Amino acid sequence: MTPLMHPKLINNPFGDPCVLVDFLHEKRAVLFDLGDIAAISSRTLLRVTHVFVSHTHMDHFIGFDRLLRVLLGREKHIHITGPAGFIEHVEHKLYAYSWNLAGSGTADLSIDAHELAEEDTLMSARFRFNTGFQRKDLPSRSVKDGIIFDEANYRVRTVQLDHHIPCLAYSVEEKQHFNVWRNKVSAMGLGVGPWLRELKEAIIRGDPDETIITARWCDNGIPREASYPLHELRQEILRVISGQKITYVTDVGYTPPNVKKIISLAQNSDLFFIESAFLEEDADIAKRKMHLTARQAGDIARRANARRLVQFHFSPRYEGRAVELHEEAMSAFTKEQSTVNRPLPWRDAESL
Ligand SMILES: [Zn+2]
Repeated sequence: MTPLMHPKLINNPFGDPCVLVDFLHEKRAVLFDLGDIAAISSRTLLRVTHVFVSHTHMDHFIGFDRLLRVLLGREKHIHITGPAGFIEHVEHKLYAYSWNLAGSGTADLSIDAHELAEEDTLMSARFRFNTGFQRKDLPSRSVKDGIIFDEANYRVRTVQLDHHIPCLAYSVEEKQHFNVWRNKVSAMGLGVGPWLRELKEAIIRGDPDETIITARWCDNGIPREASYPLHELRQEILRVISGQKITYVTDVGYTPPNVKKIISLAQNSDLFFIESAFLEEDADIAKRKMHLTARQAGDIARRANARRLVQFHFSPRYEGRAVELHEEAMSAFTKEQSTVNRPLPWRDAESL
């Protein structure tokens, strides 16, 4: 399958947290956390439509200013989401500057800030450049099953976790993925072209079966076309498989409620970005600071049945010891099934 979502950790694991997910064939990207984002080009930042912030400790939110600087003067509308109190944090960031030059007639940047006020309510406010970023509250909406964004082919879920303060983890899922049988396209006497993407979009939109799709392609430089009902093309040349899933978890304590929620959110992720701030030998510090050890991260990823684990947010105390953090997580991640049910280091582990 050709993946549609292309995620990448922006800084090395000792750097500020930030994951960029670029979408193939779409002029869009999303960001998880806004630490130091100097390494992301302005061109890429201009594609960002959604930002998902775990919490507003400085190393997760200091990149807001750079994002704002790049987007300013553009006709753009972006969404930025965070935990309870987040709208006020965005408001204060924006009010740190003077906006007397803002006014109608210039390109309008619109920022919709959302916060998970309670675990089942998403509150929202809009800040528009043309109003000097005056806050305008938008209607709040209820959140079911943690789904905060639900588009035709993607959904984003969140869970609220405990980091001494509320901290959000996120997963982004492609609802369905279409593989094209190229040999069957040829067998029908058709050629490949942008019409295949239009066909997929029509299916995702839920267009009626009888909708006529016109295939256009070039045969030795000669333009050709043929028309078929949507249902016939879907049946003949497409195979529907489950889509990609990417999960992002950081700054959480290894407590039974946190672990239970993370495992549920991250279940069957193709790629699981999970913090590994400490080594197990410093588990007491991790516990005090509400962070994970590498072993705990690997353990959670295995129990969530993730396909691949990517560690980040290493404590600077381990500079030069990244291999140890990696090996510790991987040995917990790849443990044999027989050890899955071993006792966990807390008393009410049975509740998980
Ligand atoms: Zn933090």
